[in-house]
Amino acid sequence: MSSENFGIVVHGGAGVLSGLSKEQQKIIEEKVSETVISAYKMLEQGGSSIDIVEYAVSEFEDSPLFNAGRGSVYNANEIQEMDASIMHGKNRSAGAVASVKKIKNPIKLARKISEYTEHVLLIGDGAESFAQSIGETIVDPSYFYSEKNLLRLRKQKKLTSHDNIIQDKIGTVGAVALDKMGNISAGTSTGGMTNKMPGRVGDSPLIGAGTWAQNDVCGVSSTGHGEFFIKYQVAKEVCTRIEYLGQSLNEASSKVIGELYDIGASGGLIAIDKSGNVAMPFNTQGMIRGSLTNKSKLNIAIY
Ligand code: ASP
Repeated sequence: MSSENFGIVVHGGAGVLSGLSKEQQKIIEEKVSETVISAYKMLEQGGSSIDIVEYAVSEFEDSPLFNAGRGSVYNANEIQEMDASIMHGKNRSAGAVASVKKIKNPIKLARKISEYTEHVLLIGDGAESFAQSIGETIVDPSYFYSEKNLLRLRKQKKLTSHDNIIQDKIGTVGAVALDKMGNISAGTSTGGMTNKMPGRVGDSPLIGAGTWAQNDVCGVSSTGHGEFFIKYQVAKEVCTRIEYLGQSLNEASSKVIGELYDIGASGGLIAIDKSGNVAMPFNTQGMIRGSLTNKSKLNIAIY
């Protein structure tokens, strides 16, 4: 089925984000804007949603501005363990990686898992040996070194309260696209949460929690306190409400994010439906986000 509508929506994480100077905000907004515009042009030229999602997420992974790839945060042992997933809504093909330490672009490896293996999720050493066997780019963990994130970890270790842990969270990334063929794809990538236990896996690499794409319904990428997003299967939940309750994208996604707020779960999501409508609700002070579709203007915002 082809669609006359198409578009892209991205996020760079939800959180308090109060430590961002005006200058930092501008740099982030510029990166988001450039990525959204390039992704939109690819869609306009007939590009496929899965390629565009991989492109947008890997652009953010290559930037130290976000908590994914190069900007990943540290776990309690001062190690960066990354998670990512990607899904194509046409046939529900999906791939994911968790706890990888040497993969330059976890989102690219996630896609290759979906295309070259019979599995959905590979973790740690197994994921890295697979990457090596197919020539995926492997880097020394020092490539991801971030002084800022190490300081963030050390500061956080001195805090005990749950609130502080949530508040200091930064920028997981995600993208969702609808292409002219009517295919919806979604992807998410993250370093997880600062000071997480070694081996902890969040929602980002879990299909249904961090990422979901279903043609004829919608695609979603989540960001927030992963444990809640897993337990409430947030990404799939939004699509399920549209499919079975007949809610609009806006209604379904805002309600889910509102319900999370009511139980003390912070975060947000981005979504696009089969008609090219976009939603970007969050229950935190801010969420780095951007969208552009054939029927709506470029929208880039943090707060
Ligand atoms: N959801 C991510 C995780 O729990 C973190 C985030 O989105 O900021 O790993």
